[in-house]
Amino acid sequence: MIPTIAPLSQVIDGVRVAEGTTTTCDNCQQQLEEGHPVRSRIEQQSLVEEWTPCRLHCERCGYQESLNTPGTALVAGRLGTVRDTQTQSSWLVLLEPEPITVYPYWLSPGSK
Ligand SMILES: [Zn+2]
Repeated sequence: MIPTIAPLSQVIDGVRVAEGTTTTCDNCQQQLEEGHPVRSRIEQQSLVEEWTPCRLHCERCGYQESLNTPGTALVAGRLGTVRDTQTQSSWLVLLEPEPITVYPYWLSPGSK
């Protein structure tokens, strides 16, 4: 099976990356909020599991993120805010994500 990149941007569009309306870059601690361009390292535990964001960077720091394990990808996008008036809570999501790098993942043992 050859992994395709196109579906990835769809499955992670709007994924929740942080609670509240602001967060910080995992590297330089710059404050990030709605509208900021960001890069996120996302992970997938196995082929059948969902991609989940594990690190969030400002755009500048995100360039330095390297991928070295299967099931990881680096995506660029911008932050948006979702507000749930019912529960009076809000969270940040990744909008219009574009895959930058996808680790060639889930190769069977022996295949290179
Ligand atoms: Zn940063």
